[in-house]
Amino acid sequence: MTAQLIDGNALSQYLRGDVAARATALQARGVTPGLAVILVGDNPASQVYVRNKVKACADAGLHSVLEKHDATLNESALLARVQALNDDPTIHGILVQLPLPAHIDAQKVTEAISPAKDVDGFHIASAGALMTGMPGFWPCTPYGCMKMLESIGYDLRGKHAVVIGRSNIVGKPMALMLLQKNATVTVCHSATRDLKAQTLQADVIVAAVGKRNVLTADMVKPGAVVLDVGMNRDDDGKLCGDVDFAAIRGVASHITPVPGGVGPMTITMLLVNTLEAAERAAGVRS
Ligand code: NAP
Repeated sequence: MTAQLIDGNALSQYLRGDVAARATALQARGVTPGLAVILVGDNPASQVYVRNKVKACADAGLHSVLEKHDATLNESALLARVQALNDDPTIHGILVQLPLPAHIDAQKVTEAISPAKDVDGFHIASAGALMTGMPGFWPCTPYGCMKMLESIGYDLRGKHAVVIGRSNIVGKPMALMLLQKNATVTVCHSATRDLKAQTLQADVIVAAVGKRNVLTADMVKPGAVVLDVGMNRDDDGKLCGDVDFAAIRGVASHITPVPGGVGPMTITMLLVNTLEAAERAAGVRS
């Protein structure tokens, strides 16, 4: 068996086309969807991420504002900027790029963002909405994984999904989304005693750990779907995921590559969330 690739670039292109069309429709009503991105400090990876997000907005016809602040910015000044953006009617989504410098309480800043503009889906109100099945913004990375499963017509009802990783931004929301689609979900983490025993039972595996080869071919049931969220560097410095892609391709039915898998989908779902925030503000979506 050679697993079919779930191509995050191709799916992103399709979904971003839809975002662009809906943005044009909103503009006809006088509303341009707007995203504000706040970057504090000069973390090189964060600089790349925010650049990519701003470019993706421009390509899809969304207005974006990038606010760069020195690493010495104090917490109250950052909270004041967030409040100003909460009050700005031209901004529908606010994203504060993490990590923040150590002297700033990231949770406090996240909670300062209006839930109506929380397009990253990290606010506790968004987490609560996901947990209770209420409308709200879903965190972009697991949301992108769900879209990838949807794109292959995968019916999760009654399937066993194993999520490796339990972070607040990937693993836990991923588990809740899978549960909402009627999968039976197991969440594994660093204290899981026998990871292989768990993954071998899985119809769907989502690896979100941040360690190379956390999932190898002998840990995958033939025909399983494997989604690789991890972003790591191999010995040659090339980007790679958490799973042994080459070997698992011979066992799984579908697999996401790294790069070109979950990564582009994360930015795509940020655009979707921003557009939907603008649609709600314009009264064309409840
Ligand atoms: P994180 O906060 O560091 O969480 C990692 C999780 O993996 C933790 O729950 C940890 O368990 C678990 N873990 C660590 N070692 C393990 C092991 N040997 N076996 C099983 N579980 C283990 O990371 P994150 O923010 O969720 O991100 C995970 C990965 O996804 C990273 O590589 C990150 O760069 C990548 N990522 C990619 C995107 C994208 O757009 N493609 C977006 C976000 C994140 P404990 O809870 O017990 O410590």
